Amino acid sequence: MAAEISAGSPPMVRFERVVKRFGDLEVLRGLDFEVRRGERVTLIGPSGSGKTTILRLLMTLERVTSGTIEVDGECLSHVRRRGRLVPADERHLRRIRRKIGMVFQQFNLFANMNVLRNLTEAPVRALGLPREQAEARARELLEMVGLADKALEHPSRLSGGQQQRVAIARALAMEPEVLLLDEVTSALDPELVAGVLDLLRDIARSGDLTVLCVTHEMRFARDVSHRVLMFDHGRIIEDGPPEQIFSDPAHPRTRAFLQAVL
Ligand code: ADP
Repeated sequence: MAAEISAGSPPMVRFERVVKRFGDLEVLRGLDFEVRRGERVTLIGPSGSGKTTILRLLMTLERVTSGTIEVDGECLSHVRRRGRLVPADERHLRRIRRKIGMVFQQFNLFANMNVLRNLTEAPVRALGLPREQAEARARELLEMVGLADKALEHPSRLSGGQQQRVAIARALAMEPEVLLLDEVTSALDPELVAGVLDLLRDIARSGDLTVLCVTHEMRFARDVSHRVLMFDHGRIIEDGPPEQIFSDPAHPRTRAFLQAVL
């Protein structure tokens, strides 16, 4: 599968010597990795190993303690102005965020807006799309996620699975280049999980989206990802194609982790 990705293309995401601390707790310990454009990468590892922090850093919901993160060649923490590197301002961060869509474990829909509005708010406000155009696109996306008839409902009237489909459609409404998926099925009732994973499988495979996914759904990880990164205590201890990581892990900690979750 990895052969689909051109080895010569520039990285879409690059972490270089990234350290992240929360107080005394060092969550990421000098992390280096790259994700190529169109590559789908799953992050696995024990709870607390720093996976969600990586997605939150990319979404600029957190800032690095030290090191560099680049998205599509642009540094998250600094910007070049008149030939000088200066700390990133809100305008720069907004421009980077527009390239990235994130789907959270807890859906995080706007509770006070109906489904259609959830999908059109950011495209209208952040991208400046005319409302009619945003609505047309939103309706297409709702059709795709199987919720065309729920456009005018409020999120609280939907099941968890339906809410998560809306959240997925909302992330795609911004036409992101990078999609971040953070344990998107963990909060769902078991009978709703397969439907959401099927949808994501189709989305991930259909376009040239770059995907970073944190999940405990190993079958899903195996089906959609080109690469799996195994984390332990804020470091990558194994990096390889899913067939290798899942069938023949090199690191004893990966073996132990997989035995516990499979
Ligand atoms: P994972 O996704 O692998 O379970 P996380 O990235 O969520 O791990 O968390 C890594 C560690 O960082 C955990 O010990 C967590 O408690 C801690 N952590 C995450 N966010 C914060 C925060 N905002 N403040 C303090 N500690 C945090």
